[in-house]
Amino acid sequence: MTHEFDAVILGAGAAGLLCAVEAGKRGRRVAVLEHADHIGKKILISGGGRCNFTNIHCQPENFLSANPHFAKSALARYTPADFIALVEKHRIPYHEKTLGQLFCDRSAQDITNMLESECQSAGVKISLQSRVREVQRASRFVVRTESAEFHAPVLVVATGGLSIPRMGATSLGYNLARQFGLNIVQTRPALVPLVLNGKDRNRYCNLSGVSAEVVASAREHAFREKMLFTHRGLSGPAILQISSYWSERQPICIDLAPNRDVTAAILQARVRNIAAARSTFQGILPKRLAERWLEFHEPPDWTNPSLKDLERQIHEWTLTPVDTEGYEKAEVTAGGVDTEELSSKTMESRKVPGLFFIGEVVDVTGHLGGFNFQWAWASAAAAGRSL
Ligand SMILES: Cc1cc2nc3c(=O)[nH]c(=O)nc-3n(C[C@H](O)[C@H](O)[C@H](O)COP(=O)(O)OP(=O)(O)OC[C@H]3O[C@@H](n4cnc5c(N)ncnc54)[C@H](O)[C@@H]3O)c2cc1C
Repeated sequence: MTHEFDAVILGAGAAGLLCAVEAGKRGRRVAVLEHADHIGKKILISGGGRCNFTNIHCQPENFLSANPHFAKSALARYTPADFIALVEKHRIPYHEKTLGQLFCDRSAQDITNMLESECQSAGVKISLQSRVREVQRASRFVVRTESAEFHAPVLVVATGGLSIPRMGATSLGYNLARQFGLNIVQTRPALVPLVLNGKDRNRYCNLSGVSAEVVASAREHAFREKMLFTHRGLSGPAILQISSYWSERQPICIDLAPNRDVTAAILQARVRNIAAARSTFQGILPKRLAERWLEFHEPPDWTNPSLKDLERQIHEWTLTPVDTEGYEKAEVTAGGVDTEELSSKTMESRKVPGLFFIGEVVDVTGHLGGFNFQWAWASAAAAGRSL
């Protein structure tokens, strides 16, 4: 069976669906092909089931890319306020949790229902359980699935990244980019827990479940948020954020007591000893972490220089993770289709007219906190409005 459309979009995730809505509203006949049995699977599991759908403080600085300027145009033309207007039009209750992060009050299903209903109004055809077998380009794009053939002058690739393969992530988008001769910036798991080396795992990982507010930094980037010990290493928002900047064999630095002068009380204590240190540290850090950390950082003596060194160490606890927990646990994929290959206004390939890449498959990766969805919406709108 052959179907003719003005645009075929691969992937019914955040970017694919919003792109379909924007193009459909402009009167384009749009088909969205999705291999899963329902739309927006990642939206449904996002934000702990409540979908952190945007961030009101979204800035270009909240994104990583080989070209940090690329995302600016799309982000400026489809802002958090635009998506909030859509959410409010559908009377979806939401709240700001922290740091500008907006979440649904009820469930992420509100967002998928909203996108599905917008697609319906815009006359978009969504074809589920459509496994793409082949894409060719002659005078138009030809997309073959197991049971049908779709023809269109425009093909939008919105198949997302490699993270969480059990949710349906595939490498189709990257394969298509390669097939059409587009460069790919090496992909890697990002927003992902880090694995500690054997020695540090033995020392700290039975603290699994303990968390503390820290500043985690790597290279010139720093994030003040919660850090969590896991049974293999470190996680929590501060670590997920810094993982996006971490590369193999590089150390990360953790300030366990941001803006606190920890040793001041020990300096003034009547007796300077490990008991005084424990009691001070326990006022700042969770008890088990305070004890464990001091066990491995007990100063050789309690002189002023040793205490000064202890103070430095608590603000500059340096660890060298051996790995990340990989795509199985990563929230996103960093790297992807090289932005040099795409128009920043429309997301269209410079080399292959009519071929577009949007969302996570592109080399633009957001910080934790609703930025990845904002990129999905903004890049989708940029493409959808140009079709
Ligand atoms: C656990 C988790 C929680 C997250 N929470 C948040 C959050 O709260 N806020 C936030 O901003 N970001 C969050 N993210 C990141 C966010 O989900 C993604 O960045 C976003 O979904 C990317 O949108 P996308 O449309 O590019 O890709 P996706 O939403 O992944 O959509 C891609 C679609 O393409 C389909 N597809 C893939 N391969 C094929 C193929 N071969 N044939 C046909 N279809 C295919 C997939 O099934 C999927 O439906 C989270 C991610 C995870 C894993």
